[in-house]
Amino acid sequence: NSAGLDLTDPVAFGAVHAARNAFQTAQWQARPLLGRPAAITGDPVPVTNPAQPSDRLGTVINATPNDVKLAIGAAVTSGWAQVPVADRVALLRATANLYEANRAELFALLAREAGKTWADAVAEVREAVDFLRYYAEEAKRQTLDAPLGVIVAVSPWNFPLAIFTGQIAAALVAGNAVLAKPAPQTPLIATRAVQLMHEAGIAPDAVQLLPGGGEIGAALVSDPAIAGVVFTGSLPTAHSIDRAMAANLAPTAPLIAETGGLNAMIVDSTALPEQAVRDILASAFQSAGQRCSALRVLYVQEDAADRTIEMLKGAMDELRLGNPWDLATDIGPVIDEAARAKISAHVDSYARAGKLIHRLAGPGEGTFVAPAVLRITGIEELTEEIFGPVLHVATFKAAELDKVIAAINGSGYGLTFGLHTRISSRVRQVSKSVRAGNIYVNRNQIGAVVGSQPFGGEGFSGTGPKAGGPHYLPRFTRISHCADTA
Ligand code: GLU
Repeated sequence: NSAGLDLTDPVAFGAVHAARNAFQTAQWQARPLLGRPAAITGDPVPVTNPAQPSDRLGTVINATPNDVKLAIGAAVTSGWAQVPVADRVALLRATANLYEANRAELFALLAREAGKTWADAVAEVREAVDFLRYYAEEAKRQTLDAPLGVIVAVSPWNFPLAIFTGQIAAALVAGNAVLAKPAPQTPLIATRAVQLMHEAGIAPDAVQLLPGGGEIGAALVSDPAIAGVVFTGSLPTAHSIDRAMAANLAPTAPLIAETGGLNAMIVDSTALPEQAVRDILASAFQSAGQRCSALRVLYVQEDAADRTIEMLKGAMDELRLGNPWDLATDIGPVIDEAARAKISAHVDSYARAGKLIHRLAGPGEGTFVAPAVLRITGIEELTEEIFGPVLHVATFKAAELDKVIAAINGSGYGLTFGLHTRISSRVRQVSKSVRAGNIYVNRNQIGAVVGSQPFGGEGFSGTGPKAGGPHYLPRFTRISHCADTA
């Protein structure tokens, strides 16, 4: 894996810190990056910093339906499939090196456009670089079949560099041309990423960028020239992509989707409370809870509940909410006002019902949500994923463990699951009966590492295959069989 950056090393960190600060007032422009010369029309729309609305960091010109047509035309005739796999591998590696060389700028973009703390920004650049090198390595190791053709990649704002890059890298190295639609909240970092891919030597018609909202996504995924879609985002959007594909595309076109989760953790009374609390804190609140993998529902055994919750409250009080530009900040803003309003309304309704266990105070400016802990009776009380720093807590009695697992499975989601226990037979039993893509024992349940923890869920959480694992690339290919009589 990529080396990352040690935030506690004054020499190494000091240099990167200074380099990033040069981008504190920098301005970027996002626009369609098409494979053929085209007049870019449309009005530039300002992009603002979620932690500090007065900080405008650039503008975006969104793609038009005509840009979509031009891009599809260029992708179909790109000739990328004929580029030898060794060259595609080399181009991914060159991109990885350019990401590393430009990491100070990427850190600045991640903080100012996506509200990422230092720790999150470092982990994200690292993951993006890992995806590039890992898929390059896998493409060399595996004998891949023929590419599918033109792939549409629709990515989320919560990992605007890592997931954006991972989707593109996998599709490209398998020989597909890519049309990438970044999340409307994070077009600037997507533009920089594609510029770096082009700078590394990837042909401009092999990877094209189409910034925009739902209409651009809908136009892309319903064009019959598209051979497959890779998507990370919400379940309702995955359903609508699926319907559009079913109506317009060949039945062979796959949807590779990673959607949400209603992720649970079980803490029994044998767990080490300090360790459990540390891992609950990271799982529920790191990245302001804006991870698909984040912990949403904690089940704590009744006789350990009081001490675990007391310790959790104390640990939460130490968290620093604030501008992610500052190294001391643990938790930044949520992505935008719509997210803030939705999450806050959920917390407020529980508070009104007297079910608020704990809540921090939030800063005034910016779209912040103060981390909160809410009391619930069980996971079945929640009907949807609340994508923010909100933890729901339920208790269970020793004899109810099977019932708890049935309730967790009954949610229909199956992304991550955490277990804290010191009973090893329980580890075997629970991890066999919980249906989740990624199960974590006596540790936190976020931050899957490319190459060693392939990431992806089942049920309502995604179609598989897992990103950062060996089964991902073959999904971007088709198998043809040629029988020769000679
Ligand atoms: N891979 C990330 C993790 O393990 C989560 C990705 C997502 O939020 O979609 O935390």
